[in-house]
Amino acid sequence: MIRVEHLSKHFGNLQVLKDINVEIKRGEVISIIGPSGTGKSTFLRCLNLLDHPCGGRIEIDGVDILASKAEVPALRRRMGMVFQSFNLFAHLTVLENLCIGPIRLLGRPVADAADKGMELLRMVGLAEKGQQFPDQLSGGQKQRVAIARCLSMEPKIILFDEPTSALDPTMVSEVLGVIRRLARQGMTMAIVTHEMEFARDVSTRVLYMDEGLIYEEGPPEQIFEHPMRERTRDFIGKVR
Ligand code: ATP
Ligand code: MG
Repeated sequence: MIRVEHLSKHFGNLQVLKDINVEIKRGEVISIIGPSGTGKSTFLRCLNLLDHPCGGRIEIDGVDILASKAEVPALRRRMGMVFQSFNLFAHLTVLENLCIGPIRLLGRPVADAADKGMELLRMVGLAEKGQQFPDQLSGGQKQRVAIARCLSMEPKIILFDEPTSALDPTMVSEVLGVIRRLARQGMTMAIVTHEMEFARDVSTRVLYMDEGLIYEEGPPEQIFEHPMRERTRDFIGKVR
């Protein structure tokens, strides 16, 4: 589904991504872990071209997205992104937040978009909040709306950048619960997270990023129980 080869990115003299090579298959749940400043967010942002890579290749379903610029809007629609800071439209109601993309970008009839929006709100446990505005919601509720909004665009893959880092501990589990459910339904996801227990039980594969590389990758048992490389061991030891 996604194949990344020799991806690099620098900001001025700072080489953030040196040589990233990875493949993400349909139905995989990839957790991306690693120390602060090692390029985890930059990697996700390069995948959907919020940041422009300096070199390498990103193929999505066989299409080289760095070669054909015309594909970018279609590509963004296929890749949802959920941020730490929710990024909801503050002047729209919760339901409107979920309808605007399908109506404006997918050309869905208003009534269909509203039905689908309500269905998604039920799925994230917020059916009663459709008429409220984002600032009337708790952080955990906002993030669940952000995930529902992302799903309203029917993405093929969702990229999460620390979806629970801005939340009080009491709200983390409700958001992780929604992500867990998506994983069980077979949604393809790449999740940058500091929630190690969650990463361990939800992922099919864990990528440990360090030194601008995917320094070590493997099934969760390998990365968390038997990391092969010293830096991975140090990191896992510290976050335990
Ligand atoms: P964290 O765990 O703290 O979120 P991260 O692994 O997501 O860290 P990035 O946000 O990808 O790290 O940042 C990697 C490096 O690139 C950092 O040193 C950061 O300061 C730098 N960087 C990121 N974006 C920019 C930018 N737009 N301009 C200049 N430098 C940037
Ligand atoms: Mg980050």
